[in-house]
Amino acid sequence: MADERRRYLEQQAELGGAEVVLDGALSSAGAERRVEGRGTGEEVRPPAEAGGSRTTGAGVRRDEHETEPGRRGPESEPARPADAPPEPSAPLDAPAWLRGAPPIPGPGLAVTSPEPKLLGNDLHTLQTLDDIAERIRTTYCCALCPGRTNGVPGEGNPEARLVCVGEGPGATEDAKGRPFVGQAGQLLDSILQAIEVPRPAVYITNIVKCRPPQNRKPLPDEIAACIPYLHRQLELIRPKVILALGGTAGEALLGVKKSLGELRGKVHTYNGIPLVVTYHPAALLRNPNWKKPTWDDVRIARQLLDR
Ligand code: URA
Repeated sequence: MADERRRYLEQQAELGGAEVVLDGALSSAGAERRVEGRGTGEEVRPPAEAGGSRTTGAGVRRDEHETEPGRRGPESEPARPADAPPEPSAPLDAPAWLRGAPPIPGPGLAVTSPEPKLLGNDLHTLQTLDDIAERIRTTYCCALCPGRTNGVPGEGNPEARLVCVGEGPGATEDAKGRPFVGQAGQLLDSILQAIEVPRPAVYITNIVKCRPPQNRKPLPDEIAACIPYLHRQLELIRPKVILALGGTAGEALLGVKKSLGELRGKVHTYNGIPLVVTYHPAALLRNPNWKKPTWDDVRIARQLLDR
């Protein structure tokens, strides 16, 4: 048990949480020594993590009632006045991930995916995730498919309350036919464990189901060809929360072309399902400064699960 707790706290520290320091034997949660400012506390803007000049071509329709992108991004948050009342803190018996978590932010975009029946394909007739996986593995939908070793449809709990959506399979995923099983996948597993949502409880998939050459970003026409699978997967799972990993996933799901900085820090809705956009785990491996903002984002998603 002590080992488990230690691993958990180490993960939190690894993710930039300001909760804990590990020196000597751990006792109860209340006995942990608080350390302020382990993370940088600063938002590091991703240089064109979701940028570039492409459009998503995802075919997602934005609601007429779409809210204008809010102004609540961390980059535009006003400084707290010195005489402001103290921030509400988590109760003492709150789970560790909730301590110091940001409050759930305001709404962002509200989008509706295209009606599957109107897409000119028969995906709406596929009744299970296995049917969709079989279709992905046995047919070609775009120029990426002939280059694959394996199609990577996604995997996880068909009744998942949380669905994580990445960009597209990498080399390890292509070799194994499974999503997020390389280095970035290991980090994703740690992130999920740290918010007490173990990997088997979630469904993990990607915008495109076949590996783009040299792991380049999928092209708009590749996204457009493949995303109907994701729309149908989400329609069948109907999760409580969607976590978009990286700008490509956020843009494609929301049908917009915006930077990751613009997409983060808001609760969007996709067919009424709250959708949070955060950094891609592979980006965190390149730049650990993004772990702390990611930790905040996933704790927002976690709070939405409990709402
Ligand atoms: N990166 C992704 O976007 N998806 C994977 O499945 C693996 C790495």
